[in-house]
Amino acid sequence: MTSTAAATLPELVPDPVELPAGLADLRAEVRSFLDEERDADRWTPRADVWLSGWDESFSRRLGERGWLGMTIPTEYGGHGRTALERYVVTEELLAAGAPVAAHWIADRQIGPSLLRHGTEEQRRAFLPGIARGEVYFGIGMSEPDSGSDLASVRTRATRVDGGWRLSGTKVWTSGAHHAHAFFALVRTEPRDDAHRHAGLSQFLVELDSPGVEIRPIPLLTGAHHFNEVRFDDVFIPDSRVFGEIGNGWAQVTGELAFERSGPERFLSTYPLLSSLVGELTAASGGVDTGTRRRVGSLVSRLWTLRAMSLAVAGALESGEAPELAAALVKDLGTRFENEIVDAARLLVDIPPDPGAESGFARLLADAVLHAPGFTLRGGTNEVLRGIVARGMGLR
Ligand SMILES: Cc1cc2nc3c(=O)[nH]c(=O)nc-3n(C[C@H](O)[C@H](O)[C@H](O)COP(=O)(O)OP(=O)(O)OC[C@H]3O[C@@H](n4cnc5c(N)ncnc54)[C@H](O)[C@@H]3O)c2cc1C
Repeated sequence: MTSTAAATLPELVPDPVELPAGLADLRAEVRSFLDEERDADRWTPRADVWLSGWDESFSRRLGERGWLGMTIPTEYGGHGRTALERYVVTEELLAAGAPVAAHWIADRQIGPSLLRHGTEEQRRAFLPGIARGEVYFGIGMSEPDSGSDLASVRTRATRVDGGWRLSGTKVWTSGAHHAHAFFALVRTEPRDDAHRHAGLSQFLVELDSPGVEIRPIPLLTGAHHFNEVRFDDVFIPDSRVFGEIGNGWAQVTGELAFERSGPERFLSTYPLLSSLVGELTAASGGVDTGTRRRVGSLVSRLWTLRAMSLAVAGALESGEAPELAAALVKDLGTRFENEIVDAARLLVDIPPDPGAESGFARLLADAVLHAPGFTLRGGTNEVLRGIVARGMGLR
């Protein structure tokens, strides 16, 4: 390959990032808060907490500590801290298996999107509550027949006096039955097959609006996290148009960059990995070489994924859009999570027990039952690999 060709290849992983030394104190503070909370039985470690651990009082306690809305400017109730400071707090919460679902979407992507595209009134109306851990959001993208091919959404908004009327159905909406609002991606112009990404817009829909119906879709566990959300001629005032009419595709793509790149894509099952190591070291008779190699391979890949994910966080902090690297972290990370589940099933002779209060059997049961969603949510791995291939000029 000539040097000219090499120079045009896109970077797959941004430059490595060293966490500044000062962040060790922040990490220690979060760990001691989590230890205190666990010792007081305020929550129990679980797998996949950012989907299933809905605990509003825990979110409020994090808000009081200043650990939500960390990168939101202080004038909007946030804390004006860096993305790397937020990263440290986030990874500690996930690694501990703490119940973070209530504030997760609002803190991860709605805050940054409101700062980028929201009106001043929208920022003041929602950001302080997000930073306090009191205002919760969902994601209103997918529809029946529109998941990977998001540009095919059919929910439609029609212009009326003072606002818009929405009709259609969103699906797989995590947490909509508890959330206050979501951004709905909808068609504001008839679909034009030559320009499929045009004519889409986002609306900030408050989920208690008349005409919004939220129906549960039970998970494999039987638990209720997902929903179908129907709009029957729902009135959305002009003040709740999000961003620019017609700019929905660009806005949603920006939101997805935040959605895909975080440590949740490889730490959802960390509590199970940690419990697996605990069970193995507690077992009498020692651990055989094959088991040691398997666990060693998981732990070393965890370090690599973390380095990649931190590099993405560093790039986001300096204003880059590391779309390919984020897609890679999600693809490698979510497949890695499934391998943790497999290793836990095979290496420890304790059957999964969804009825157990805590411990290995419960963590394993939760992880097994949630695993089918790991590679789907946030965009399927096949689609992400397509993004990487396109970015590398392969398609
Ligand atoms: C746990 C979980 C939580 C979710 N939460 C939300 C939420 O809160 N809000 C929300 O809006 N959505 C949510 N989703 C939906 C999720 O974003 C979609 O399921 C996902 O985008 C895939 O869309 P689909 O299910 O329609 O699959 P389809 O698009 O029908 O895909 C089916 C299969 O075809 C493959 N495929 C499709 N197109 C291509 C292609 N171009 N190249 C190669 N393969 C392809 C896919 O990879 C997949 O294997 C959630 C999903 C899960 C599992």
